[in-house]
Amino acid sequence: MRRIVVLSGGIGGARFLRGLLRAAPEAEVTVIGNTGDDIHLFGLKVCPDLDTVMYTLGGGIHEEQGWGRADETFAVKEELAAYGVGPDWFGLGDRDFATHVVRSQMLAAGYPLSAVTEALCRRWQPGVRLLPMSDDRIETHVLIDDADGGRRAVHFQEYWVRLRAGVPARAVVPVGAEHAKPAPGVLEAVADADLVLFPPSNPVVSVGTILAVPGIREAIADAGVPVVGLSPIIGDAPVRGMADKVLAAVGVEATATAVAQHYGSGLLDGWLVDTVDAAAVESVERAGIRCRAVPLLMTDVEATAEMARAALALAEEVKAV
Ligand code: GDP
Ligand code: CA
Repeated sequence: MRRIVVLSGGIGGARFLRGLLRAAPEAEVTVIGNTGDDIHLFGLKVCPDLDTVMYTLGGGIHEEQGWGRADETFAVKEELAAYGVGPDWFGLGDRDFATHVVRSQMLAAGYPLSAVTEALCRRWQPGVRLLPMSDDRIETHVLIDDADGGRRAVHFQEYWVRLRAGVPARAVVPVGAEHAKPAPGVLEAVADADLVLFPPSNPVVSVGTILAVPGIREAIADAGVPVVGLSPIIGDAPVRGMADKVLAAVGVEATATAVAQHYGSGLLDGWLVDTVDAAAVESVERAGIRCRAVPLLMTDVEATAEMARAALALAEEVKAV
């Protein structure tokens, strides 16, 4: 039984996981999910990345959109708007609301987020063990310029969804991370893993936030097993979304090579870049990270499974040396 740990954000991570489960149906997969994007709305706790993984693997996702529920309606949102209650920029559908009601109710009753996530997954049966990176509250904030020459911090969702990353991000801060503890099972899963994968998730606000929880980065580096990542950057641009904006905030170019170097050879043993970035292989290998160029577009589950097979093969290669 192969034990695989995957550090996941939302869409990029969830879609990759679907391919991984096809490529390695026998594997025991533990997903450590980013919770830095979590936000409190209308008195409810919303965990976008955990839910995207849960809905995608559980068959409830809105396929084209990549987040939220299929066959969604928006009656609650309309009713809230009729009361003049915002925000109106964060899309929560009626079906999705139910998830947040259940989660918030359980949290209020004293259950930690990890137990709540396990309970929600009993319905969705995602085929992986889904763990939040931490039960402690961590909130990613983005520093932007304000009107009078200073800086102000906004919640990541406000930067990403309301502002559409339309202004420069000066810094990205995972508020609360330094005092947070990994959720129960996280360090154990890493220590017991046969390999660790970084899917093509956002390197700063998804994987980066998970690595900011004290102990997780160290556990991965110390696990002594192959750590292999897949580039979310193809042809010097994110495949989807605005990852270049938050990469700039941490001083990293939006290239497959720069992202590999950002993780570093101390953490990463192998890195997959897209075939259009084949020229990057040499520079990544010069940085001490074994690199291969393969198609990295997750156009459908089979193409994604092929990416997962390439990652598993690279892990074997790395192990052999
Ligand atoms: P989020 O939390 O929903 O933003 O999702 P993630 O952090 O898990 O993934 C976002 C990243 O996925 C973005 O930076 C995209 O560039 C990347 N991504 C999306 N689709 C693809 C794809 O088909 N191939 C690759 N290589 N990356 C992708
Ligand atoms: Ca996210």
